[in-house]
Amino acid sequence: MSVKIADTAEQSDNPVKVVFIGGLGRSGTTLLERLLGQLPGVMPLGEITHLWERDLLGNEMCACGATFSYCEFWQRIGAAAFGSWDSVDVERLGALKATIDRTRHIPALAAKRIAPAQHQLVREYVSYFEKVYQAAAADTNARVVVDSSKHASLAYCLRWSPNIDLRVLHVVRDSRGVAYSWTKQVRRPESPTGDQMTRYSPAKAAMLWNAQNAAFSLLARRGVPVRRVRYERIIQRPRKVIASLARFCDLDLVESDLNFIGDGWADLGPSHSAAGNPMRFTVGRIPIRPDEAWTDDMPDGTRRMVSTLTRPLLGRYGYLNEETLVPEPKEVTAGE
Ligand SMILES: [Zn+2]
Repeated sequence: MSVKIADTAEQSDNPVKVVFIGGLGRSGTTLLERLLGQLPGVMPLGEITHLWERDLLGNEMCACGATFSYCEFWQRIGAAAFGSWDSVDVERLGALKATIDRTRHIPALAAKRIAPAQHQLVREYVSYFEKVYQAAAADTNARVVVDSSKHASLAYCLRWSPNIDLRVLHVVRDSRGVAYSWTKQVRRPESPTGDQMTRYSPAKAAMLWNAQNAAFSLLARRGVPVRRVRYERIIQRPRKVIASLARFCDLDLVESDLNFIGDGWADLGPSHSAAGNPMRFTVGRIPIRPDEAWTDDMPDGTRRMVSTLTRPLLGRYGYLNEETLVPEPKEVTAGE
């Protein structure tokens, strides 16, 4: 006996629409969340995968500037979803996460059938996320909520929920730029203890880049609507890309809804994005320009190593052609 995905699908009359932003960190996922979050009908929630530890336990700062326990929005969500955040068993959630929401469990989650015992664990785990999404959508009258948790393994878990109408935006960025970014020191302003963000060696970043990106390609082949979008393309043509992604997310926009994006800038309003990159605290006009420091500052040997380790997908995403100035092949990329 095993459970098929079809057994669980279409049970809910009114699934909550969730846009999941995926990809390896330092690929521009926070910028994309910020831009999408300016659209009417869209409620950006931040990286819900980190909500439990960092906010429920760590009481870190919401993007609105209040600590989590003082943010009125998140306190309403906790009350609506769970009665109170105190009712959430964070330890149980952590144990479930370790059991199912890990990159190494993706092959099992990607299968057409899973064992009933495992299915039960996935449903229990995902129910916490469902409740947050549903409460946030109801509270704000949003058409879609955005979870920018990034990790492919969580998207694979969410796919098993009949209460979620899942769409995935898969953000890719040149692996050399990503690897370079992971070597830099960045402080986490929301952390009361002044922690630094995690750093990875270029080789480790390259391997993670391969694993995360390959996982999202497989997810698309499993029937989940996945749209791949290149970070560099967002920077070049932000208006066009956001308009295209809005259509993918079933949002009806009028031209003026995109007026917050100009030539090389965007105007960002406040949000309640709960956990994630420090960029979520920025409000007001931000420049939108390429971050190409790696092209000058990355040592040649490191660059060659990362290119070699990530070559198959770099080629598939069109990054190698740009180096040799061969015209980019037509690919399914947002904004095309
Ligand atoms: Zn807030």
